[in-house]
Amino acid sequence: MRIAVLSDIHANLPALEAVASDLPPVDQVWVLGDTVGYGPQPNEVITALQAMGARSVLGNHDGAAIGAVDANQFNPDARRAIEWTAEAIDANARAYMSALPEVRRDGDLTAVHGSPRDPIWEYITSVGIAAANFEHFDSRLCLFGHTHVPIAYRAVDGAVEAIPGMPGDRVQLGTARTLLNPGSVGQPRDGLPDAAYAILDTAPGASADSVEFRRVRYDIDRTQRLMREVGLPPRLAERLSFGR
Ligand code: ZN
Repeated sequence: MRIAVLSDIHANLPALEAVASDLPPVDQVWVLGDTVGYGPQPNEVITALQAMGARSVLGNHDGAAIGAVDANQFNPDARRAIEWTAEAIDANARAYMSALPEVRRDGDLTAVHGSPRDPIWEYITSVGIAAANFEHFDSRLCLFGHTHVPIAYRAVDGAVEAIPGMPGDRVQLGTARTLLNPGSVGQPRDGLPDAAYAILDTAPGASADSVEFRRVRYDIDRTQRLMREVGLPPRLAERLSFGR
């Protein structure tokens, strides 16, 4: 089965549209939360995901935008963006996010925003944190986001290895249990401004899985212009140019 893995779109419609045009034929689209927050087009992004039939989970920004997660835990710029988003979302977007699970499980896949141990808040930023999380899901693969950095953590012979998701790389996962982060569509933070996503090829049973880390150029100027027009914090617009 071929799966498109998208995360942290953050209401950045030009980035999502660029990814959608770049997508090869896939069987499923999975979205790992933070669909809104930071960016200027939350309603349009959710409508686009609905049209794609995306299987999504709830992120911390999504939860805060609908009042289900405490917005006081955010830094000032992120909180201002959440307040703007909470005002901007329409009934469809609110209903969509209210129905999202924190953990989605289907066959060989588990999906969360942060980590299987703490789906809303934990950042998996090291081999040690990844290793501690393998006992918190029971599928072969677990998809996660939240850090905005593409990476795979494979559990091999009792150890965990980190494989950074370099643009265009195709990584053979074998049959190893893996925690996989596709990076961020709408606000990359690995120093590359292009939208990030991944294509996962899974094979049932004992065959091998593989993942391809992909990057797509998009119209960053357009997103930045829209952010300024609606009064989102300038720093949030500027960082998109640098992928930081
Ligand atoms: Zn995020």
